[in-house]
Amino acid sequence: MTRNIIAELKPFETDIAAIRRDIHKHPETAFEEVRTADIVAEKLSAWGIEVSRGLAKTGVVGTLKGKRPGQKVVGLRADMDALNLQEKNDFAHRSVHDGKMHACGHDGHTAMLLGAARYLAARPDFGGTLHFIFQPAEEGLGGARVMIEEGLFTKHPCDTVYGMHNMPGLGVGKFAIRTGAMLASSDSWTVTFKGTGGHGAMPSRGTDPTMPAAAFIQATQTIVGRNVPSYEAVVVSVGHIAAGAWGSPNVIPSDVVVRGTARSFSPAMRDLVERRLGELGRSLAEAHGCSAELHYERRYPVLVNAAEQTSLAVKAAAMTVGADNVNPNVIPLAGAEDFAFMLEKKPGAYIMIGNGGTEESGGCHNVHTPLYDFNDDILTLGAAYWVNLVQLELGDAAAD
Ligand SMILES: [Zn+2]
Ligand SMILES: [Zn+2]
Repeated sequence: MTRNIIAELKPFETDIAAIRRDIHKHPETAFEEVRTADIVAEKLSAWGIEVSRGLAKTGVVGTLKGKRPGQKVVGLRADMDALNLQEKNDFAHRSVHDGKMHACGHDGHTAMLLGAARYLAARPDFGGTLHFIFQPAEEGLGGARVMIEEGLFTKHPCDTVYGMHNMPGLGVGKFAIRTGAMLASSDSWTVTFKGTGGHGAMPSRGTDPTMPAAAFIQATQTIVGRNVPSYEAVVVSVGHIAAGAWGSPNVIPSDVVVRGTARSFSPAMRDLVERRLGELGRSLAEAHGCSAELHYERRYPVLVNAAEQTSLAVKAAAMTVGADNVNPNVIPLAGAEDFAFMLEKKPGAYIMIGNGGTEESGGCHNVHTPLYDFNDDILTLGAAYWVNLVQLELGDAAAD
């Protein structure tokens, strides 16, 4: 028989919701999550969990050993940062900081993992070690990457790692995940075309970088149309073009800058896009007597769930809400997530937990919008998922 983890977590629910609302009310953005990290560290210590701080400035790692023997080490990760967005909610726990808001639910992610930590500290019925990883700066600045660079997995070695994100439009009591690529890589690129420029009346006396730039912008779509296999999904978009001066339409500029974004779901496609952007830019520039340089910035990698850990995550979710409420083959999402950096280093799985509403009814506010709020009704479900996952990973207390 499976223990009723949800019932056992219920007594913590009010406390965990209070922590969630407190964090929501005091949002802190990338690498400035000082108050949030203080709360996390203070709670973990109070529950008897060893705390280590300072990775990526505000990162917190709580370490808990099980009471049974075991060598395996599992990392459970939550993100703590808020967004630069003006909240438009008017409930009591709305943001007190103008222009900052927990609009992605990281307040809830932090609270759910704290809930699991509290439960597991009180009942360490497992063999092995858990690291509760609370990271800063998921939104855009790659706090996960910085924690890794500063020694996360050397100071706190993990065999496997797991992450979770709420998903508006997916009902309360539902989970969704897939094996393999689940979220896209997100990269920024810049191609700078250089020629001599010159007088607009005498173009033959110089070289004109607007010609290859114009041809290049058209050609970017041949990457998707001609180079990417039809079964792969890739997006290349131009988002910025800059050249010349508004007041000088009679001057051929010497530089044209074209910038854009690229999304893909496999490392091979990511490499392909980078290579083709460079080849197209340089060859078209050469054809017009100009030069071109590509700067390709790899931001977040493809988030790839490992097969074995995904199947454990599916089981843990099914133990929590029943197999009928778990979608084990959700379509890949074009968003990006810096937990992908951790999954590049360790096998693991990242799961979506329903935040309520449905896409059809529109009964929910999406993440990154000013009326969004994390749904407190899923705090216990999320914490129970973590506890069930630990049972599956580190010795099944359900067999007691
Ligand atoms: Zn976000
Ligand atoms: Zn998020």
